[in-house]
Amino acid sequence: MEEFKYKEKKLESIKCNICDGVDFETIENKSVNNLDVQTVICKKCSLIFINPRMSAKDYDEYYMRFYRKDRSEIKQKIIEKNNLEKNFENARRFGKGIISYMGEFVKDGLTIDVGSSTGGILYGMRECRPNLKLLGIEPSTDESNYANKKGVETVRGLFEDVKLDLKEKATNILCVQSLNHLLDPKKFLLWAHDTLQDDGHVFLAVKNWRHQVRRAGSLHLGVQIDHVYMFTPETLKLLCEVAGFQVVYMDVDEGKNREDIKIQKNNGLNTHHVRIVAKRLNSSLKSDFKKSLYLKTRMELFPLFVKFVYIFKYSHRFAFLRKMLHI
Ligand SMILES: [Zn+2]
Repeated sequence: MEEFKYKEKKLESIKCNICDGVDFETIENKSVNNLDVQTVICKKCSLIFINPRMSAKDYDEYYMRFYRKDRSEIKQKIIEKNNLEKNFENARRFGKGIISYMGEFVKDGLTIDVGSSTGGILYGMRECRPNLKLLGIEPSTDESNYANKKGVETVRGLFEDVKLDLKEKATNILCVQSLNHLLDPKKFLLWAHDTLQDDGHVFLAVKNWRHQVRRAGSLHLGVQIDHVYMFTPETLKLLCEVAGFQVVYMDVDEGKNREDIKIQKNNGLNTHHVRIVAKRLNSSLKSDFKKSLYLKTRMELFPLFVKFVYIFKYSHRFAFLRKMLHI
């Protein structure tokens, strides 16, 4: 199979997706598969992202032709997305987990999942809440066909492109493990704001990059070109606020003990994530970009500090040390 020639792609510089700022600091120059990928942090709001990055056209090409191969090389296994049934069942458990943990915010009515894959999340949610009307939006033909066969109405395409003839406003909109792949995550939240009814909620589950790199022990191990944005709980909250949402629920896996993580996993939720429920407001909250957040995030991602946390908290090799010190 032909290689994806990242080095030959023309990269473009972008401004910050949260605050429109242009003052950044580079925190890493390599990706997990050793490409020259520059990761920056915004000095105003602390958003971390790849910059400069490939154009939308090159990302399209990457997803269409190379994405699965590249990811399977990283993971050293064939990704589970190839197994539609397994994907559906895992997502179904996740959907039930959303009701167990965030059910108080899920109101009857139109429930849209953006990047809905095989429709399992919506299916699992409706098993617990029969009055939910389901609609998936999914670019993959195989996955959207599978969802429709399972009785989860799914439109094929990207949320920006599909024409939805909605008879009503949505009560719930979900975006699970897709937000950091989007080239413009704020655009998604603004779209959700337009599509939701007044008191509707958006449900997000996103990888916490700080947690990810600490578990891995090095920043470059958390950089991959398909994760265009790398959120922390704080920046995810800021993104919601600038788009006109108020965060009413936030669950962060970082800092939880093994027992809690195990219970959560048994209930279908993933680990190393941030889960947020945010309520639609009629006006956006006044954004408060604190210099202290930037300094704190910068320090937490200082390579030596990341390594230190890795050794004392996550590394299997140093488990004996933790045992000795009772930590
Ligand atoms: Zn910013």
